[in-house]
Amino acid sequence: MPGKLFLVATPIGNLADISFRAIETLKAVDLIACEDTRHSLKLLNHYGISKKLISYHEHNERERAAELVERLERGESVALVSDAGTPAINDPGYFLVQRAIEADLQVVSIPGPVAFVNAVVVSGLSTDSIFFGGFLPSKKGDRRRRLDEVKNVPGTLVFYESPHRIGRSLVDCYEILGDRSAAIVRELTKLHEEVRRGGLKDLAECFSDAIAKGEFVLVIDRAGENAVAAKIDSLAGRVRELEGSGLDHKAALKAAAKELGISRSEAYRRLQGSDK
Ligand code: SAM
Repeated sequence: MPGKLFLVATPIGNLADISFRAIETLKAVDLIACEDTRHSLKLLNHYGISKKLISYHEHNERERAAELVERLERGESVALVSDAGTPAINDPGYFLVQRAIEADLQVVSIPGPVAFVNAVVVSGLSTDSIFFGGFLPSKKGDRRRRLDEVKNVPGTLVFYESPHRIGRSLVDCYEILGDRSAAIVRELTKLHEEVRRGGLKDLAECFSDAIAKGEFVLVIDRAGENAVAAKIDSLAGRVRELEGSGLDHKAALKAAAKELGISRSEAYRRLQGSDK
């Protein structure tokens, strides 16, 4: 029988943040694949787990994935861990999961810490719809383009950011997204855990690149009601244009909503409201 691939979430700072099931799984598997074997050894030693380790990182993902799939097919069970948090979330893992699925192997997630989810819940910003954008591009032009692409996403925006760029990124966020409410969530679960809440303008002024230290998640409010209202105004006009070009009302509404990045139900509800 083929073995299973377990994606095991590990702490993002506080070694106590690991589930019983994660520990049981790490003890039970034949092999643990980890991003950095020395880093994972600290966690494994802390929990008295002695297991065969193999490195699996961004530079050897392809060869290692093939090797791990072979082992799984031979019946070995494998746990994948990253340096922190959930594997495959801005960490190696996606490629192996793909190969395992192609080989018809079972992939099991052992849930646990993930920085962006915990950052959103402490930010105080809305949790009903969340857009996680991973790391913002490191080059200014690319970063500003990316922010422009997501500025109308109807949900709370979340990004990972490095301490070297947090100041510059905040300036770009303010200039592209406006002075939205935001939170900088720093060093979650660690000694210097901190949540700084405020407008993007003030946060950009507070966080200069020179003084920023630690690990950061940037949480930003969705476009304000004014931006939504502006979109709804464009929506009505665009629907009329598309109807003028021959589409029936339903098709015009669907196409216009898609163009403006609004859900069809929201567009329908808002247009009805604006007709009254
Ligand atoms: N796999 C991880 C997860 O599940 O969240 C993410 C790994 S990614 C390479 C590392 C980034 O995650 C950091 O640069 C930071 O933005 C964020 N991060 C990780 N641990 C964090 C922590 N304790 N506090 C704040 N942000 C953290």
